[in-house]
Amino acid sequence: MDILTQTKKLKCICLIIFLVLSLSSCSRAPVRKTMPLPPIQPRITPEIFPPGMRSNIVHVVAPGETVWRIGKMYDVSIEHIVRENKLKNSSMLEKGQRLNISQAAPVRPVVTLYPSKKWKYIIIHHSATDSGSALGFDKSHQARGFNRGLGYDFVIANGTADKLDGQIEVSPRWIKQEDGAHCKAGNMNCRAIGICLVGNFSQERVSLKQIDSLIYLVNRLRKYYKIPKKNILGHGQVKGANTECPGSKFPWADFKSKL
Ligand SMILES: [Zn+2]
Repeated sequence: MDILTQTKKLKCICLIIFLVLSLSSCSRAPVRKTMPLPPIQPRITPEIFPPGMRSNIVHVVAPGETVWRIGKMYDVSIEHIVRENKLKNSSMLEKGQRLNISQAAPVRPVVTLYPSKKWKYIIIHHSATDSGSALGFDKSHQARGFNRGLGYDFVIANGTADKLDGQIEVSPRWIKQEDGAHCKAGNMNCRAIGICLVGNFSQERVSLKQIDSLIYLVNRLRKYYKIPKKNILGHGQVKGANTECPGSKFPWADFKSKL
């Protein structure tokens, strides 16, 4: 074999070694990992509240609230509330009573669903007021002659009147599964669940927390009672109701897209 042939052979072997090495280094190249998406935190009903999430609060008792319900709202025991407030009779809370609750978890809604064939619609209202709560509307509805007080089934607060933005309050009418007093048109009081968002949405926008809570609540109700999306209406969309409630700025498209 002459020197030229040997050099060619050597070049060829070097090329093969180079190719094998580069291929194997390719296969050993680190795979680019995509960053995992952050977990979706349940915003409304987390299961566990570490001590850092807890705080000392004052709760103003709304119509129909019991120590059991308030305990569930803040993830504390009945005994805890009774002891801290020196309650002699835990079944005798008064509307408007102020309760100290230490180590309270962030408030969560206690929405009980009762088997019923009554509920065919969900009607959404605004309070057309800047502020309010179930307690305040109970008083004003009684003053208007509704002898069973608060006419809605649920109120979603806007951060006024001692309630947090987006806090869902449950009306005694819902707990007792009674007819509402929120929409006479279309005979809706006896077949529609009435939800009122605090605020005047003819003039201002619904807060993000209120919309989040509304979507959560409506989805729970409509799935359980099998209410079709077309039966989820604003008060003013009910035939015969002469009102612009829940206001021209209510975000219908955004809300409906999340149902
Ligand atoms: Zn209305």
